[in-house]
Amino acid sequence: MRAIVTGGAGFLGSHLCERLLGDGYEVVCFDNFVTGRPENVDHLLADRRFRLVNRDVTDFIHVSGPVDAVLHFASPASPVDYYELPIETLKVGSLGTFHALGLAREKNARFLLASTSESYGDPLVNPQPETYWGNVNPVGPRSVYDEAKRFAEAVTMAYRRKHGVDTAIVRIFNTYGPRMRVDDGRAIPAFVSQALRDEPITVSGDGSQTRSICYVDDLIDGIVRLLHSDLAGPVNIGNPHEMSILDTARLVRDLCGSSAPITFVPRPTDDPSVRQPDITQARTLLGWEPKTELHDGLNRTISWFAGQLAERRQSVA
Ligand code: NAD
Ligand code: UDP
Repeated sequence: MRAIVTGGAGFLGSHLCERLLGDGYEVVCFDNFVTGRPENVDHLLADRRFRLVNRDVTDFIHVSGPVDAVLHFASPASPVDYYELPIETLKVGSLGTFHALGLAREKNARFLLASTSESYGDPLVNPQPETYWGNVNPVGPRSVYDEAKRFAEAVTMAYRRKHGVDTAIVRIFNTYGPRMRVDDGRAIPAFVSQALRDEPITVSGDGSQTRSICYVDDLIDGIVRLLHSDLAGPVNIGNPHEMSILDTARLVRDLCGSSAPITFVPRPTDDPSVRQPDITQARTLLGWEPKTELHDGLNRTISWFAGQLAERRQSVA
């Protein structure tokens, strides 16, 4: 079995490459390192079944030999990243998706699109089932990501209907774990690195907005189950345990043993007020649900960030 992973040097992509290799796949990873890092997959390079290719998937992608699966994960994913890279985000969601789908079509491979809970925008329905069409501002600053992913979903369904490509769409909800960048800007890396450095923890707005965070190993397991199923989706994969961002910041601070103060900063435009996946489909059709306890997942993540920050201090000294 041979899999192509676009965005394989990113946070989720690197865990996915590792899991696929563990499951016996040969893996080719395409990444241009715009938000990912080769270091995320350094430990895989010794495996002869793994290949890392520096490539922008908005350009045509060619692979020789047979391919069984194409998993399209390339895209900036942190709001801070996609505010800085708006055009790149739209291009990888549009042109990049065409190229990844074209490859799957040519190779007769199963295609899996990493879509997002942002397809639901700032939802008026909570929790969000896959049947909800969403509430997206098409011209706001987040639209570069939300609309790129909604477009990518539409292209995926068009290739399925028109060309008979075997496709799947996963809508991924907020996921955390080792290999997120310290400066990634998303809530968990921000809170953990601030708490570990005893710097003010930046909660946006009054922190009453909610998210439901999933540990990376659980998420990857759900994605692999979807890959091996014959479902087209979209299927939500995420942890339904919903918490306010203020409570999340306080929990992270406690688990870090930190006395950092919490500071309130302006809330980003169109920041969703609530988010919780309805995972009925994943439970019933994939036999999947998250297993990692919140405290365990956060403690593993905190240890990893503590190691990263120690390495940084050593390299500065
Ligand atoms: P990430 O930024 O760590 O990884 C994205 C990877 O894609 C990076 O390695 C980046 O260099 C690469 N990339 C971006 N544009 C590219 C291009 N044009 N050509 C080649 N490579 C390119 O982000 P992540 O959190 O790992 O997210 C991975 C995927 O999962 C994204 O598609 C994202 O939209 C989706 N997703 C993630 C989450 C989450 O909570 N992490 C939630 C919903 C959806
Ligand atoms: N957030 C915050 N402080 C930060 C980073 C994020 O309060 O330093 C908030 C953000 O405004 C949002 C929530 O945390 O309400 C989740 O943000 P994140 O960027 O992790 O993911 P999103 O779900 O918005 O894509």
